[in-house]
Amino acid sequence: MKYYLMVVVGDVEPEIKGPFFTTEERDAAAKAHRKQDPEMNDGVYTLDVDADSGVKVGAYAGGFFDDASFSTTCPRCGVDGELSVVEAVLATTGRTLKIDSSLSADGFEVPTNARDASTDDEVVRCNACKVNFPLSEVTL
Ligand SMILES: [Zn+2]
Repeated sequence: MKYYLMVVVGDVEPEIKGPFFTTEERDAAAKAHRKQDPEMNDGVYTLDVDADSGVKVGAYAGGFFDDASFSTTCPRCGVDGELSVVEAVLATTGRTLKIDSSLSADGFEVPTNARDASTDDEVVRCNACKVNFPLSEVTL
């Protein structure tokens, strides 16, 4: 497996960086790139190339570029592992996205057809007590 970073400069011109030996190295390069692009003009994607399974492009989970980590325990009922992100606003377009993605300590997945995985105003739902609350309540 070879790991690359695909940067779509100004959302127009694709550039491939790499290969990297580990996903950690590649992810560090993604964060370094985003630091130089605070306006988020560039789309940043993962690109994995494998001799057997072929090419796979992916988006970064919400919160990845914020270095945020999350509690997976419901602040209302205390049940662990039942939190899902059900709504998020795309930072680039302001469009509200209805999703259903389980929340892990590292974040959550947004659909890979989204232009950029960066989101704001996320709404989390606890599947145990059925209460919705803002993601900021479980951001560490
Ligand atoms: Zn709950």
